[in-house]
Amino acid sequence: MAKKQTAGRDMLGSLAPKFAELNDDVLFGEVWSREDKLSPRDRSMVTIAALFSAGLYPQLKSHLALGKEHGVTRTEAVEIVTQLAFYCGWPKAWSAFPLIAEVYGEEEGTPAKDLSVFPVGEKNDAFAQYFIGQSYLAPVSTAQVPVFNVTFEPGCRNNWHIHHAKSGGGQMLLCVAGRGWYQEEGKEAQELHPGDVVNIPANVKHWHGAAKDCWFQHLAVEVPGEESHTEWCEAVTDEVYGKLD
Ligand code: MN
Repeated sequence: MAKKQTAGRDMLGSLAPKFAELNDDVLFGEVWSREDKLSPRDRSMVTIAALFSAGLYPQLKSHLALGKEHGVTRTEAVEIVTQLAFYCGWPKAWSAFPLIAEVYGEEEGTPAKDLSVFPVGEKNDAFAQYFIGQSYLAPVSTAQVPVFNVTFEPGCRNNWHIHHAKSGGGQMLLCVAGRGWYQEEGKEAQELHPGDVVNIPANVKHWHGAAKDCWFQHLAVEVPGEESHTEWCEAVTDEVYGKLD
C-alpha cells in the first residue's frame, strides 16, 4: 500500500496551500495511489532514479525513506545508485551513498545514523543479559540527572524489571524515534511514538522495547531517589510480546 501523504500540508500548508493540496491529493492521492498500474515500490524506484539523476539530494533522501517504507531494500538502493552512476555522473553516487547510510544504516542490522538527533552510542553489552535482541546505549547526560539514549532493534525489548526506591525514584521515558511498547504488569501494553512521555513510578514492574518491525529509541531519565536500584526479572515471553503489532 502506498503511504498516505501529508508532507505537503505538513510542510507547506501555510506557505503554499494550493501546492500542498496538489502534492497530497493529486500527486499522491491520484497518481501514486494507482497501485494496479504500477506498484508503490516501483514508483519509489523510478522516483529515486529521477531525483538522483537531477541531483536533488534533500528530496532524494525523503524518497529513499519513502522507498524503504514501500519495500525497497538497502541492497536495492545501493544497486540503483551503482548502476546510475554510469548514466548520471560518478560524483552523484558519492553524494547519494551517505544518504542511503543515513536512511538505512551502514549495513543490515545496524541502526540508521539519523534515527533521531541523539547519538545511538555503543552496543549495550553491559545489560545484554537483560534484553532480548540487540540494544544500544548512549550517555546523553552523566551529570545532575543521568539520561541515556536507548536504541532497540526491531523485536528487541528489555526483561520485566523494577526500579526500586524507598522514596522518589522511578524512570521517565522520552520517546524520540520509531515505534515501541511500554507495559506495566497487569495492564495492557501501551504503543509509543516519538514525542510520547512515559512516567514510570518506582517499584512498578514493567518492560519497554521496540515494535516487531520497527527500530525504537527513547531517552531514559533516571529519576533520583533514596536507596534506588533496579531489579531485573524474567524475559518478556513471545506469548506476551507476540500479541503486539
Ligand atoms: Mn524501565
